[in-house]
This record gives sequence, C-alpha cells and structure tokens, in this order.
Amino acid sequence: MSNKSEKRYRKIKRTSIWSSILEFVLFSVAAAVMLAVAIQIFASYIIDSKMISEYERIEYMARLYDNGLKNKDENIYNLLVEEGHDYMIVSDDGKLLHINGENTISDQSGTVRLSEYGEDVLVYRDKERGFVYPGSNGRLGLDFMAFREWIASEDDAYDNDTADSDIEKAYEIHTKMIQLPIWISVDVDGGSKHFIGKAVFSVNRHDTRILTYLTIAMAALLVIILITMLAAAIKNVVRQKRMINLFFTDIVTDGHNWSWFLIKGDKMLRKRSSAKHKFALISLSFVNYRNYCVCHSVAEGEALLCRINDLIEKNTKKNEICAHTTSASFALMLRYSDKAELERRIKKLIESLSLMDEDHRFNFQAGVALIGEDAGEDGKRIHNRDVDLDTEYNNASAAKATLSASDDSGIAFFDTKLIEEQQWLDKVQEKQQSALDNEEFVVYYQPKYDPRDTKLMGAEALIRWDSPDFGFVPPGKFIPIFEKNGFITKIDHYMLKHVAADQKAWLDAGYNCVPVSVNVSRAHFIESDLAEQIRDIVDEAGTPHEYIEIELTESAFFDDKKALLNTIGRLKDYGFAVSMDDFGSGYSSLNSLKDMPLDVLKLDAEFFRGDTTDGRGEIVVSEAIKLGKQLNMRIVAEGVEVKEQVDFLAKEGCDMIQGYYFAKPMAGDDFVKKMQGVIEKPESV
Ligand code: C2E
Ligand code: CA
Ligand code: CA
Repeated sequence: MSNKSEKRYRKIKRTSIWSSILEFVLFSVAAAVMLAVAIQIFASYIIDSKMISEYERIEYMARLYDNGLKNKDENIYNLLVEEGHDYMIVSDDGKLLHINGENTISDQSGTVRLSEYGEDVLVYRDKERGFVYPGSNGRLGLDFMAFREWIASEDDAYDNDTADSDIEKAYEIHTKMIQLPIWISVDVDGGSKHFIGKAVFSVNRHDTRILTYLTIAMAALLVIILITMLAAAIKNVVRQKRMINLFFTDIVTDGHNWSWFLIKGDKMLRKRSSAKHKFALISLSFVNYRNYCVCHSVAEGEALLCRINDLIEKNTKKNEICAHTTSASFALMLRYSDKAELERRIKKLIESLSLMDEDHRFNFQAGVALIGEDAGEDGKRIHNRDVDLDTEYNNASAAKATLSASDDSGIAFFDTKLIEEQQWLDKVQEKQQSALDNEEFVVYYQPKYDPRDTKLMGAEALIRWDSPDFGFVPPGKFIPIFEKNGFITKIDHYMLKHVAADQKAWLDAGYNCVPVSVNVSRAHFIESDLAEQIRDIVDEAGTPHEYIEIELTESAFFDDKKALLNTIGRLKDYGFAVSMDDFGSGYSSLNSLKDMPLDVLKLDAEFFRGDTTDGRGEIVVSEAIKLGKQLNMRIVAEGVEVKEQVDFLAKEGCDMIQGYYFAKPMAGDDFVKKMQGVIEKPESV
C-alpha cells in the first residue's frame, strides 16, 4: 500500500523516537567514557606525584649506600636499616645480595621473600622510569578497580590493625597513610648493582577522599545529565505519541480518522487470510446531515456525528474498525462470512442509528464493497495483501451513490457493473464535445398520429448518437449523463437547430409538414432568456414557429415556478406550442396544470404498461384526458403499443398517439416518407 497518510505517519514516527534514543545512547556512552578517563587521570596524577617523592627518598638511600661503599664504611648496612625502610641490593645479573642489611646473596634471579608479607615477590624494573615493583603483569598502569579494592582493603587494615610495626605506627602518627608496595630500583656501584628500595607509596586519606568525592561528583553529574536527557527523550516520546494520536484523531468526532483507518485496516488485511472470515468495506452516510445543520446548528450537527461515531464503534466487534471520513460519512471494515448476514447486520445498524434521537428519524445510506470478492484483471481473486483500501472505499462510495436519487435509508453493494458504468461515464464525458462538433448526434423522429383516422399530426424529435467509437447509442445511455454534467443545454440547442433546419428544408420541399416537438431539459430552464434563445435558433433557420413545439418534463415544474411560468408565457407569445412531457410519471403535477398555460399534455407511457385489464388504469387515463380537455389542452398518449389501447384512447378523445403501435422513432429520411403520406401498415409490436 502506498498512500500519503502512511508516508506521513512513518515520517512522524521515525523523526522523533530514533533521534532522541540515539542521542541518549551516544551521550551516555560518551559521558561514561569521559568519567572513567577523568578518574583514571586523577588517580594517575596522585600516584605519580607520590611516586616522585618516594623515588627521591630511595635515591637518597642508594647514594648513602654508594657513599658507604666508596668509603668502605662497614656500618653502611646498619645505617640503611636504621633508615627504617625495606630495601634490597641486586647484582646486575639478578642475584640478590642484601635484604634489609642481611647479606643474602642468592642465585634466585630477582625473586625475593619479604618477611613482612611472607610471600615471594618478583621484582621488576621499569627501564624507562627506573621504577621497580612487584607484580605479575609487568605493567605500571593502574587498574582503577584493583586500585579501589586495594585502597579499601588497606583502609580496613589501617582501621582494624593494632599497628604492630614501627613503620605502620609512623604512618599512623604522622601521615595516616596507606601503602602500596612498589619497589624502586636505583643503580649503584657504577651500575653493577641495583639498590631496590621499597617505596612507601602512600595515598593518604585526604587523597582517597578527594578521589572518592570526585568520583561521586562526576557520577552525580553524569546521572543528572542522563536523567535530564532521559526526561527529554521521554518528553519526546510522549510528544510523539501525542502527535500520532493527533494524527489519527478525527477533529469532529474525537474518534479515529481516515488516516488511522487506512493504516490499521491495511495491517488487519495483511494479518488475516482466513477464507471463512472475509472483510467488507462500508461507506456509511448520514443523509440528513446538511438539513439537520441548517435547522439546528453546525455545532449540534457535529455533536450528532460524535454520537453516530460512538454508536457505530459500539457495534463493531474485535478485528473490526470504523472511522469518520468526510462530512457526514463514515468508513467501516467489518468481518463477514455470509453476504446476506452482513446485509442484515448493516440494516440493523442503520435502524439503530436512525432511531438514536427521540425527536427525529434519520436516514442512512450504506455502500458495501466486499473486499477481494471481485476478480483482478487476470480473473483471479485479489489477495488481501494486494487490496487497496482507498479503492475499496471508493467502490463502496460509488455503490452508495447509486442510492442518492432518494433520501431514504438503503444499502447498495458494489459490483463490477458499477465500474463499467463509471468507465462509460468517463468515455462519454471525454467524447461529448468532439461528438457535437463532428455532428455525430442524429435526430430521429417519432410520428404522432390521430387515433381516430391515423392521420399524421406531429412528431417528437429524439436524439441518437452515431458514434465511430461506440456505435449507435440510444439516448438513455448518455442523456442522463449530460443532464448531470450540464452538457444537455448544448444538446438541446443542437437538436433545436437541426429540427428547425429539417423543417425548413421539408417546408421548402413542399412536404405536408407537421409540428415537431423538441425536448428542452429541466437544467435549461434556469436560463432567464431561454425563450429568446429558442426563438433566435428557430428564426436563424427561417422556420415558422408553429412547426416547433417545446416539451418540458414534469419535474421542471418543481423549480422556480415563477420563472418557468414567465418562460412558458414568452414562448407562447412567440408562437411556440408548449407541452408537458411525462404527465403522471411520479411527480404530482395537477397543481402545475392549474397555473401553466400549456398547450399539450403528454400522458406518460407508464399508463399503458402492465396489466390494464382491471379497468382502474382506464379510469385514470379517461379522467386525465377529460382534465386536459377542460383546460383546453391537446392530449398525446405516449408509449402505446397495442390496438386495444388505440381504440380506447380514440373513444376517450385523445388527440394523438405516439407509440410503437404506429411507428418507432426513425431517421429523417424515413419520416419524410411518412409526411408524403406513404403510410405503411401500422407496425405490429
Ligand atoms: P421521452 O421524451 O419520454 O421520449 C419518449 C421515449 O419513449 C423515446 O425513447 C421513445 O422511443 C419511447 N417510446 C415511444 N413510443 C414507445 C412505445 O410504444 N414503447 C416503448 N417501449 N417506448 C416508446 P428514447 O428515444 O429512447 O428517449 C428516451 C428519453 O431520452 C426521452 O424520453 C427523453 O427524456 C430523452 N431524450 C431523447 N432525446 C432527447 C433530446 O433531444 N433532448 C433531451 N433533452 N432529451 C432527450
Ligand atoms: Ca419527450
Ligand atoms: Ca415522454
């Protein structure tokens, strides 16, 4: 699925969370490293500075020894011992010569046993810095943790010890020091021997405290920074959550919106692939919304939409979703296993929605697209994964639009026929202008006969489309489209122009011309100068006005009555007869008859359809004829197909019959033959 919402949602998600998490992690690592380095540096600094003074002390002892050697002073060892510090003298080849004044020449290279520790200590020499120390790893670098442990152990020892030895006592009294056993070597006797003194490397409590405080301070700083950053990250996450919420919340209903529906629905489709539980997408509209807002207020209308959303939500089950889409429309994705059962469920939902307000009865229309039911272009059932919810919703809405002629509640299912209709609509709209320019529209004439003597009395001009792309197209396939898109006014002009031209030519040819009625659509009647437009077109052809009649459909009488009356009056003034088409076809028009000075009443073909044997239809037709007559109108019966109807209409005084019984609509050339009196036997149906 690729849609704008999904992309925008991903963008929101990506930007805030990951950047703050990354920031946090990077900073934490950097801060921890910095803290460790700082402590390390400080610890090294303390140790190094302490080390220097110890080195100087041992060097002093080494010089003392050197002087003693030079002066052959026998007392030198006693002097060194009196210094009170452990030392040893090692020959260049590693033999131990003295320990604390004792001549203990040893073959053991560099390994000494120190009485104080009671353990063997291997002494190393740091060539670069002259430091020698016991240990096993040969490095001078300090392991911080080991150092801390050592400090702690030494500290405890210091606290608990009864401080037996003199050295410890000295520490205790003077410096409150703790020791690190490091051995320092100084070359003596011209470099042939090494004086190794035990560095009383000391870190006093003050140092350890500073180090401890520094560690604590740095750690605290780190914690504060981390907490601040964590708070910022949490804030970011919360803000992002809020943003996502906002992104998915419908501003009118506070429920979910279309973006949420698309993303959630898509996830659901990807998850489920059970053949038993299929999904249906429903486009549900509250029909009376605009009226409700006009009668109450937009705010009340929106409050009602909230309640509708809540009720829909309540009626959705697990793994079903709904959202407010636009204006008064909602999208639902429901699970179903049986189409009839789904229809019952939607019907029930509509019922409960329409009864939600005690004072009103609302209407809802639903369009349903059964997801994946329609085969793809290759004829195979579309897999859920490949379903595009936008398209499905569009299909559901297209199905719903088929109900739009009425305001009643209803349910319509989408099928591929609707797509075909839509495609046809597109094609027609694309071609309409070029068809007009290329004169692809053809005028057919359907004669009107006097039922008593079968004399030709008139004709109705009916359009046909002779299209090089679509073939011969009847008006039912394109007139409703033109009526909707407004192109019908051009068609009406076109027809009038051609009929007027035909009539003029036929008159000039000396045929027995009869009035021809031309349909003028309802959409045309909003133009205030319609009567003048008609007059000018007819005059341009040079046709006498009595040869042109104007047909208005009954529904036109519902619009601006005053304007209509005015137009009819002017048409009559110009000498055009005006007829009411499709009288009785569903709109109550008795009232219009009262006001409109019409010349002709055309009884709708429906009067002559179906069962006419019970006599009731005949009564209605007979009374309608009487009514028209009393209003000085001529009566035309349309759609008459059988002889009995012709006889009946003749008896009742119907003036003309336009129907298949006499003739179907025909091309101009054929109509000319009818005018010339070439009467073929009435067509049997
Ligand atoms: P309408 O104005 O009511 O035209 C009469 C329709 O009834 C014509 O259909 C005609 O062929 C048909 N008809 C006549 N007698 C019989 C019969 O005995 N049996 C049956 N079954 N049908 C009969 P058509 O020509 O298909 O036109 C359909 C509709 O298209 C017209 O209904 C009219 O509303 C519209 N239309 C046709 N031509 C034009 C036009 O030039 N301009 C406008 N605005 N609308 C037109
Ligand atoms: Ca008509
Ligand atoms: Ca008609």
